Amino acid sequence: MMGQLPAQQNALFYDFCLDNHIPENHLLRKIDQFLRFDDIRTHLEPFYSHTGRPSIDPELLIRMLLIGYCYGIRSERRLCEEVNFNLAYRWFCGLGLEDDVPNHSTFSHNRHGRFRESDVLRVIFATVVQRCNNEGLVKGEGFATDASYVKADASRQKMVDGPVDWQPNPSQSRAVREYLEALDNDPLAKRPQKKVSTTDPMAQWAGDKGPAQFYYSTNYLIDIEHNIIVDVEPTPAHRISEVTSTQTMIDRVEADLEIKPNRLIADTAYGAAPMLNWLVEEKQIEPHIPVWQKGQNKELFGRDDFSWNAQEDKYVCPAGKDLLSRKRNFKNKPSLVTKANTINYRASQLDCRTCPLKEKCCPNTLFKRIQRSVFEESRDVARGIAKTPEYQQSRRDRKKVEVLFAHMKRIMNFDRLRLRGISGARDEFLLTATVQNLKKLAQQRYKPPNPRINPPNLCHTR
Ligand code: SF4
Repeated sequence: MMGQLPAQQNALFYDFCLDNHIPENHLLRKIDQFLRFDDIRTHLEPFYSHTGRPSIDPELLIRMLLIGYCYGIRSERRLCEEVNFNLAYRWFCGLGLEDDVPNHSTFSHNRHGRFRESDVLRVIFATVVQRCNNEGLVKGEGFATDASYVKADASRQKMVDGPVDWQPNPSQSRAVREYLEALDNDPLAKRPQKKVSTTDPMAQWAGDKGPAQFYYSTNYLIDIEHNIIVDVEPTPAHRISEVTSTQTMIDRVEADLEIKPNRLIADTAYGAAPMLNWLVEEKQIEPHIPVWQKGQNKELFGRDDFSWNAQEDKYVCPAGKDLLSRKRNFKNKPSLVTKANTINYRASQLDCRTCPLKEKCCPNTLFKRIQRSVFEESRDVARGIAKTPEYQQSRRDRKKVEVLFAHMKRIMNFDRLRLRGISGARDEFLLTATVQNLKKLAQQRYKPPNPRINPPNLCHTR
C-alpha cells in the first residue's frame, strides 16, 4: 500500500535535543572540539560598553562567519538564512530551535567596527595556530611560502590611469579613506600604479591567466610537516610586497610561537639577492629557493664559467685573464657599489680584443663585464643548497602551499573578495586560513566523545 505523509505538522510539544541529531563525524562537531572562546571574550571586552542593552554575542557572529567560510557561503544574507534552516549550523552556533538568528546587517556593523578595531580575527587565527602547535602538528623544521591572487571587489569599469590626484571628499568610500590614510605611512600604498581602481585603490591591476583585473594576494607561510598555515598576510598583487610580507610573517611566528625554521622553501620570485641575504645572514635560515637571475644567452659563457677568487677580489675568465673591479689605485677611493647594489668586474679591452674565445664570451661588446651582487655570498649559499638531494625534496614540498590555495579557491569557493580595502582582505584571508587549520585539526586530532563522560542520551549544551 502506498504511504502518505500526514498533513498535520503543528504539534504543540516536541521532545527534541539538537545535540542528538548531529552525527558524530559531522565536520562542525569535529571543528567545535578545537574552538575555545574564553580568551577571545576577554580580548573583546574593552570594546563593548558596560551599560545599555546587551549586544549580540560576538561568539555567535564569529561562529556564523566560520560556517560561511567553511561551506563557501559568501553572502551574509544567505548565511543568516542557512543558519536559520540548518540544524547542524544552529547546533554549532549554540542556538536552540526557537532562537532568533541575527540580522545580516549586524555582520557589516561588527566586521567593520569592533572586530577590526580589536583585531579579533588575528587573535582567533593565532589561538588556532597555537592549538595546532600544542597538538604537535607544527614541527618547525621547514616552512614554505607562496602567494596567490584573489580578485578584489573592484570592477574593471572603475579603472583610471594613475597617478590619481585624490581630493578630500566627505562621501568617499571606506576603502578610499583607508587608502588615503595609508598614503602617509604605508609603503604598500605609496607604490607607483599605472592603473588605479576608484573603488578600491589599494588593489593591484594585474593579469592572472586571463584579462587583467584588480587583485590582492594572500600570502601563506606553512609548516610542511602537516601543512598548517602558521601565518597569513594580505598584500596588493605585487611581487615586492609579497616578498616583504614573508619577512614580516617569519618575524611574527618567531615572536609569537618562538619557532624559527631551519629552511625556507619558495619559488624564484623570492630568490632575489636581498631576500636571500636576509635569510642567510640575519635569520640563519637555509634558503631552499632558486636564485633569481636575469635571463642570459645560453650560447654564451655563463657566470659558472668564470671562477671567483675572493682573496684577490677578482674573477678569472675561461681564457685565464682577470676581471677586476678597480684598475687604478685612487687616492680617495670612490664607492664601487652601484644603485642596484652590484659591483662591476671587467676584463681588459686588450685581452678581449685578441682572445680566440671572444665570440662565445662577449661578441657584441669591447670587453667582458660581470655584475657581482654585494649579497653574492648569500646567493652562493643558495646555489650550493640547490645541488643537494634535500633541495629536490624541498621542490616537492613547495607544492603543499599550492594545494592549500587550490583548496581555498575550489572547495571553499573563495576566489573573489567581498570586503574592500587591505583591511577587508586581511579579515577574509585570516578567516579562510583559520578554517583551513581547523579542518586540518579535525582531520588529524579529532577524538569522538567518550560515551562514559558524555552519555549520548543526555542533551548537553556547550
Ligand atoms: S673575451 Fe675577454 S673575458 Fe672573455 S674569455 Fe676572452 S679574454 Fe676572457
